Amino acid sequence: MTETTTDVAIVGGGIAGGALAVQLARAGLGVTVLEQSEHFRDRVRGEYMPPWGYAELVSAGLLDVVLRAEGTVTPRFVTYGDSMSPDDAEAAAADTSRLVRGAAGMLNLSHPGACSELADEAARNGAEVVRGVHRVEVAAGSRPAVTYLRGDQEHVLRARVVVGADGRSSAVRRQLGVRLATTGPRTFAVGLLVDGLTGWPAATNAVGTCQDVCFFVFPRRDGRARVYLVWDKSAPGRFAGPGAGERILSRLATLTCFPDGDVFRAARPGPGWASYPLGDAWTDQPYAPGAVLIGDAAGYNDPILGQGLTIAVRDARLVAEALLSGGQWGPSVFAPYAAERTERMRRLRATADAMTRLRADFTAEGRRRRDAAFARFAADPGARLPIAAAMVGPDALPPEAFTREAADRMVALP
Ligand SMILES: Cc1cc2nc3c(=O)[nH]c(=O)nc-3n(C[C@H](O)[C@H](O)[C@H](O)COP(=O)(O)OP(=O)(O)OC[C@H]3O[C@@H](n4cnc5c(N)ncnc54)[C@H](O)[C@@H]3O)c2cc1C
Repeated sequence: MTETTTDVAIVGGGIAGGALAVQLARAGLGVTVLEQSEHFRDRVRGEYMPPWGYAELVSAGLLDVVLRAEGTVTPRFVTYGDSMSPDDAEAAAADTSRLVRGAAGMLNLSHPGACSELADEAARNGAEVVRGVHRVEVAAGSRPAVTYLRGDQEHVLRARVVVGADGRSSAVRRQLGVRLATTGPRTFAVGLLVDGLTGWPAATNAVGTCQDVCFFVFPRRDGRARVYLVWDKSAPGRFAGPGAGERILSRLATLTCFPDGDVFRAARPGPGWASYPLGDAWTDQPYAPGAVLIGDAAGYNDPILGQGLTIAVRDARLVAEALLSGGQWGPSVFAPYAAERTERMRRLRATADAMTRLRADFTAEGRRRRDAAFARFAADPGARLPIAAAMVGPDALPPEAFTREAADRMVALP
């Protein structure tokens, strides 16, 4: 058994753990990241960030690092759908480069690439990044420590603080006894990486609801794009099984709301796809003595909004600021972070609920409500208030944006 010490032990080297490691290492703290994977691979996670996420990367000093991971700035945002012709949809495209100060638009990236770049940047700044760890056991309290195996060798890492950044199924969260409340699944989604999508317009992200699916297209460079389909929760395994990639592309190609669905026929599915139930999970207490949770480990927002990376970067920045504030790392050091996160996640939960009602109600009545909502949006941009946080961030809007009444008004039948 080996025994080492550091200031901060971070379990999980994903976006949250990597973003925190870079900031702490740059400030000169001792940081050790314990990551279970030997190599980052595509796990079908978030690869899109809204303008407020772009601004978060700037605030955390991480934009340049993430841009190295196939980072692609996409200012143009088109909403297609049954309620409008493709021409009308394109004429109404939003320019997201003016929504948030300091953000040139939305940002698409490679998730495994961004994890690698953050880990490399942390290591360049003095962090130790240990890959291939397993059987991680965390002891919090006044003498925090992490015990883990690498190969057959047992190691003990003593730290002043342990950070759980080990994702939605967090073992650290379980070991700390933190429980998440959940909404349960609102919908189901599948994600796929595609190549050869050369006919897709440059710098354009798209979303829409057409027939029985809601879709997202996030292009990167050289014809590569991440696509997602969302559908009703009554058919969880709809796109599962052999040939899923081809069936996802074929579904996109046959949607009637695109100007040219044939661009998807020319594309090739990548090797990985995965489907997930979509919903929210949260806690008001993402910390314990000597330990704190960040990113999905601390609770996650419904991916229909595409906020998880931004949430992770904000978490990492706030926890870094708390640890670098110069005070003692006593039990209350994470209380301001927890309070901010609780309200942030409550607001994003309300936004996800409103977005699901708008985009993922596939009934005939849902379609009529969608038609009515898009007519309202055309007449009054303020009618979008209940879903606006997905682009500009939850703290840029007044409290009434997050009420059930505001969402009811947005999708009310005429
Ligand atoms: C279908 C889907 C679509 C999504 N789309 C978007 C999107 O478009 N935009 C967006 O912003 N977000 C999106 N998200 C959410 C986003 O992917 C997550 O919120 C984000 O990846 C969270 O980052 P994280 O670092 O907290 O967790 P993770 O990305 O899960 O990283 C956790 C890391 O910890 C490691 N780990 C796990 N357990 C251990 C252990 N015991 N010991 C050591 N290491 C461990 C893992 O290997 C991994 O590297 C989506 C999610 C899903 C499911």
